[in-house]
Amino acid sequence: MKHAFGQGGPQIASIGQGSWYIEQGDRKEAIAAFRRGLELGLSHIDTAEMYGDGRSEAIIGEAIAGRRDEVFLVSKVLPHNASKTGARAACERSLRHLKTDRLDCYLLHWRGPHRLAETFDAFETLKAEGKILSWGVSNFDEDDLDEALAVAGPRRIACNQVLYHLRERAIEHAVIPWCERNGVAVTAYSPFGHDDFPEPSSAGGRVLAEIASAHGATARQVALAFLTRRASVFAIPKAGRVAHVEDNAGALGLRLTAADLARIDSAFPRGPKPHSLPML
Ligand code: NAP
Repeated sequence: MKHAFGQGGPQIASIGQGSWYIEQGDRKEAIAAFRRGLELGLSHIDTAEMYGDGRSEAIIGEAIAGRRDEVFLVSKVLPHNASKTGARAACERSLRHLKTDRLDCYLLHWRGPHRLAETFDAFETLKAEGKILSWGVSNFDEDDLDEALAVAGPRRIACNQVLYHLRERAIEHAVIPWCERNGVAVTAYSPFGHDDFPEPSSAGGRVLAEIASAHGATARQVALAFLTRRASVFAIPKAGRVAHVEDNAGALGLRLTAADLARIDSAFPRGPKPHSLPML
C-alpha cells in the first residue's frame, strides 16, 4: 500500500528497506536483495553515514546504479556533524558514497551538540541547492518535536524516524498523534525488534502464526501490516537476503481485520507511556 510521506509528500510504499549492519553480510546477496526489493515495490531505502562508516551507503550506491529514479532514498547525518558546514560536508560525502546527486530525505540521526536552528538552516540550504528534496529528524520525542516545529515552522519537517515494533509501542502514546497532527511521516525502525522477533513458540508468536495462517501470510508480514496500519506510518525492515525481502514485500498486500488488530493489541500490549522515548 502507498501513502503520502508527510503532508504533501510523495506517495511511497508503506514498507521499505533498512541497511544497518548490511556491510557485515554477503555483499552480493545484499545487493541482490535491495534490487529484488525495488522490483517488488520496496522503494524506500534507508541508510546513514554512520552505518559501517559509509560502507552501507556504498553498497546501496551499487544496488541502485541505473535505477535511481525508482528509489526514495534516505540518509542521516550524525549529530556531531550537524553544524552548518559539517552537514554540508556529510551530505556531499553521502551523495558520493551513494553515487547520486540527491537524497529524497535527509535526517538528523538523533539530537546532539548543535542547535536545531543551525542544523535546519543547513538542511534548508541543501534543499535549495537540490541536494536533498526534503528533510526530517530521528529519535525525536514529543517535546523535541515541539521545539523543532517552533524552530522550523510548519510543513518543513517531513519525517520522524523512531523505534517501533510489537514489543515497543511507546510512540503510539504521543509521537504518532503529534506527527499526524502536523503532517509528519513516521518511519518505524527496527520493526522486527532489531533481532528479537517473537519466537513461534511464545504466546505472542502463536497469535501471530494463527493470524498469518488465516491469511496465507507469514508472522513477519502480520507484524509489518500491524505496524503500518495507520497511513502515517512506514516501516523499514533490514533484510540482507533475497528470501527475506520477498517475505517482507508480501506485507504490502496484507489487510488485517479489526479482530486481528485487537488480538495483536492484546498479545503485545502498548504499556504505559515511558518517561523518555526508547531508542536503539
Ligand atoms: P530489523 O529490521 O528489526 O531486523 C533486522 C533483522 O531481521 C535482520 O537480522 C534480518 O536478517 C532479519 N529479517 C528481516 N526480514 C526477515 C524475514 N522476512 N524473515 C526472517 N528474518 C528477517 O532491525 P534493524 O536493522 O535494527 O532496523 C531496520 C532499519 O531501521 C535499520 O537497518 C536502519 O536502516 C534503521 N534504523 C534506524 C535507527 C535510527 O536511530 N534512526 C536505529 C536502528 C535502525 P537478514 O539481514 O539476514 O535478512
